[in-house]
Amino acid sequence: MSVVTIEKPVLEPTGALSVETVLSVRHWNEHLFSFRITRPASFRFRSGEFVMIGLQGDNGKPLLRAYSVASPSWDEEIEFLSIKVQDGPLTSKLQLIQPGDQIYLGRKPTGTLVTDALLPGKRLFMLSTGTGLAPFLSLSRDPDVYEFYEEVVIVHSVRRVSDLAFHDELAAKWQEDPLVAEQAGKQFHYVPTVTRETFRNNVRIDALIENGKLFEGISGVSKFDPETDRVMMCGSMEMIKQFGAWFEENGFAEGSNAAPGAYVIERAFVG
Ligand SMILES: Cc1cc2nc3c(=O)[nH]c(=O)nc-3n(C[C@H](O)[C@H](O)[C@H](O)COP(=O)(O)OP(=O)(O)OC[C@H]3O[C@@H](n4cnc5c(N)ncnc54)[C@H](O)[C@@H]3O)c2cc1C
Repeated sequence: MSVVTIEKPVLEPTGALSVETVLSVRHWNEHLFSFRITRPASFRFRSGEFVMIGLQGDNGKPLLRAYSVASPSWDEEIEFLSIKVQDGPLTSKLQLIQPGDQIYLGRKPTGTLVTDALLPGKRLFMLSTGTGLAPFLSLSRDPDVYEFYEEVVIVHSVRRVSDLAFHDELAAKWQEDPLVAEQAGKQFHYVPTVTRETFRNNVRIDALIENGKLFEGISGVSKFDPETDRVMMCGSMEMIKQFGAWFEENGFAEGSNAAPGAYVIERAFVG
């Protein structure tokens, strides 16, 4: 029997890109996977930022896309959570990566889903749909976040139960995490919701806000308060537009790295 081996190209670092090694891959379902790669000593980022990653394209040049880092800034490895778009230029290939494979990593992470872009507050709400969860996985494992906020909430809205990536770790409040287990045990809240299958919450985020379920178990009032609440949003354009407008109307000012505010979004994220 002959074994067919597919030759993988050897990637070359450039001024803007380093070449890293895939360490592990976890497939959540046919639409979603996560993977960990090596972290170069020179790679510094703030929890919540994104970076360009990619593979070699058919023309021999790097084929890159923006990805939120899903691991916290202190982690020795870097983790990403990815969609699988069947005819997507990058993810049709990226979903096939295996440990030992090479991948490009941009040298300049950036982004607005960072605590620097928010004013001080008491409760931090991170609202996400789909892969928009990624930056919040990073932030919810960062000890600084628990110093800055008394309560830290991730809301994750997906279509199917199997889309709830990292559900068990989040539901367990990161109890296996070496740095934040103790603080997260007291201060972290996870509110998953599934819109197209049976689940304990199966309404969209707006309905969770309206019926007050989003605030269950969280101290303080059962509605958003611009004086004390800070909000980050990441995911589908529809969600970001809808909630961005709602927060503006309700006294929240959008923040940026230059001028911190009460809420921040990652504008270009498609999720
Ligand atoms: C700032 C920023 C951060 C991002 N972070 C992530 C991340 O952490 N994880 C991630 O999977 N993607 C992320 N994306 C999207 C990512 O850059 C790519 O679009 C995605 O990897 C698909 O690449 P592709 O070449 O296969 O297809 P593309 O040609 O890039 O996209 C094809 C189509 O697939 C859909 N699509 C693309 N990305 C998603 C998604 N994440 N969820 C649902 N539908 C999508 C859109 O309809 C898009 O038009 C981010 C984008 C931006 C701008």
